[in-house]
Amino acid sequence: MTRLSSWWAKIIAADRQIGSRWWGSAAAIVLSLFLTVGMLSVFALLAAQTPSVTDDVRLAMVGLVVLVLVRDLYMAYHQFWRRRQEEIFRLVSENAADMIALVDADGHRIYNSPSYKRILGYSPEELERTSAFEQVHPDDRQFVLLAAQEARKTGTGRRLEYRIRHKDGTWRVLESTASTIRDLRGKVEKLVIVNRDITERKRMEEQLEHSAFHDALTDLPNRSLFLDRLQHAFDHAKRNPSYKFAVLFVAVDGVTIFNNTMGHTVSDQLIVDISERLTQCLRHDDTITRSAKTGSDGPSKNDVLARLDGDEFTILLDCIKDPSDAMRAAMRIQDILATPFRVNGVDVYTSASIGIAVSTVPCEKADDLLRDADIAMLRAKSLGSPCEVFDRNMHVQVVKRLQLETALRKAIERQEFRVFYQPIVSLTNGRIAGFEALVRWQHPDTGLVSPAEFMTVAEETGLIIPLGKWVLEGACQQARLWQLKYPGTPAIGITVNVSAKQFMQTDFVAEVKSVVEQTGIAPQSLQLEITETMAMSDPERSGRVLAQLRKLGVRISIDDFGTGYSSLSRLRSFPVDVLKIDRCFITGMEKDGENREIVRLIVRLAHHLHLKVIAEGTELDEHVQLLRQFGCEFGQGYFFSPAVDQVTAQALLRMNADLERKPDPRPVPGVAAGQAAGAAD
Ligand code: C2E
Ligand code: MG
Ligand code: MG
Repeated sequence: MTRLSSWWAKIIAADRQIGSRWWGSAAAIVLSLFLTVGMLSVFALLAAQTPSVTDDVRLAMVGLVVLVLVRDLYMAYHQFWRRRQEEIFRLVSENAADMIALVDADGHRIYNSPSYKRILGYSPEELERTSAFEQVHPDDRQFVLLAAQEARKTGTGRRLEYRIRHKDGTWRVLESTASTIRDLRGKVEKLVIVNRDITERKRMEEQLEHSAFHDALTDLPNRSLFLDRLQHAFDHAKRNPSYKFAVLFVAVDGVTIFNNTMGHTVSDQLIVDISERLTQCLRHDDTITRSAKTGSDGPSKNDVLARLDGDEFTILLDCIKDPSDAMRAAMRIQDILATPFRVNGVDVYTSASIGIAVSTVPCEKADDLLRDADIAMLRAKSLGSPCEVFDRNMHVQVVKRLQLETALRKAIERQEFRVFYQPIVSLTNGRIAGFEALVRWQHPDTGLVSPAEFMTVAEETGLIIPLGKWVLEGACQQARLWQLKYPGTPAIGITVNVSAKQFMQTDFVAEVKSVVEQTGIAPQSLQLEITETMAMSDPERSGRVLAQLRKLGVRISIDDFGTGYSSLSRLRSFPVDVLKIDRCFITGMEKDGENREIVRLIVRLAHHLHLKVIAEGTELDEHVQLLRQFGCEFGQGYFFSPAVDQVTAQALLRMNADLERKPDPRPVPGVAAGQAAGAAD
């Protein structure tokens, strides 16, 4: 009895919990109980009044009635739990954020949770009128159907992602999982499908993936994506020998200068404009290729334009016939870049150096093609040509260059550099007025290496910065020692070459100042040489830096004068002290009237600008005579002495001092290094 009451209490409690009318279940059970008891009473009455019925039959009848009673109780109980489960399902699905649907074995929707309305815009009634697959995207419908069939067959559903149409016609992405409900025989009767709207998540994922493979400024593919496409093309070419493609490495000139003068935001706009023109150029190329080559739609080309970095773009030209196709594309790029860009109200002129690598040149990896195109681009840049096609020879040169770079780095670490000194001689009295410090590499195997062989690499790699500083310090220190040892008026001067990279350093003036202070050299006896090209590359800045150097008391000379393009009006505005005429004008001056005239004019011009003149490459007595005739103040060249080591230079200075001590010093035109070597202190 107590067990029965507790069981009854449980039913009531469960009914209350799900909020249903508990008396519904109770009534069903009580009714079946009454029916059974009623039947039992009728049977008992009939049996008692019928004497022919034996006790066994009575017992069997009672058993039957009990069995019916038990069965009814069981059914009522089962129905109760089933209803309860359905109520729980309804409660859960109505309150869930996800969309929950109950679908029958034929795919008809039996139940749709209210969240369908909120997420997809359909009311449950609207959905019930349709099949579960009707709103699924046609491209996804097939695999969704297959997955549903599989779930019905196996009883287990798998996670799916598919597109479904919103009531407003847009597409949403759903993540869906299916579970099955079986009937009493174990057959799958219904599917419970839980759908989650993952449209936003998908969009974010796509965005993330897009930004991982695209350049943020231009939205063009970036290096990773380009390399991926290149790898595909490379693999395809391996399988199909007739398929050819080319890589174009496009370095746009002029962007850096524009960036430096106009700032990042404006130069970003220029980059975007350039990328748009390049994209149009590729589309144009595609149309031409199709119509000209095939006369119809032809094979689709998958050209890829990517932005690697700054002003560097790369193009994968798909399906080319031969390298001339790539050359034509390069020329077209040059053409479209020739029209000035209008940025921020200013016309910007650009050009490009383009390197081409064609897939027919054997290489091991896809990346090698990009490297080769880069090498060809550098070659085009150095030659000033619009485009160059990569060949094996270029590769050999690059390898050599790399080796030189590594060797140079080691040389700096191992302190293998020496400073040599070449006298600068006064043409009026034949005395050494100063020295030009010229760096040499004392290579352990090959001996002295001239700067001509390593200066370009040192400059390009930036190694010139520590090297140049080291030369400046060493030369100033040495000059200070000589000034103390051989005092004179004016003091022995020292000329030091400044590279473009050094000159561009923001702290260059501070560096010179600290070297002057540390070595104790009088700033007036230090002369810094810059080339015309360096001074003119950014005249505004050059003017400022030169003025600051001048303020320190340091003198400035323009090296290799006559070989660059200086604007005379600018030159006038620069605080320069000396012009060094390039040796190409001095060489052969004795025979070549034109060169002679140039030298004469340069000396006149310099004097007009109140500058002193040094003639580089003075090799012959005739040079000295002519230069004196023109009024050139100083000569430097093999006629006097080549660049010599510090010991020999000191011997030259000693001879110089001896000459100065003579009561009537006559100009001494030649100071042979050989003579001086034995006279070293
Ligand atoms: P530069 O500054 O114009 O130096 C003059 C070059 O002409 C030196 O070559 C010198 O040895 C050479 N030379 C001098 N007299 C004659 C002559 O009569 N005939 C001929 N044919 N040549 C003569 P070097 O020492 O090989 O230097 C070459 C260039 O390397 C220099 O040209 C300079 O631009 C650069 N350089 C040398 N040392 C340094 C350095 O310490 N720093 C920087 N930044 N550049 C340096
Ligand atoms: Mg020089
Ligand atoms: Mg020079």
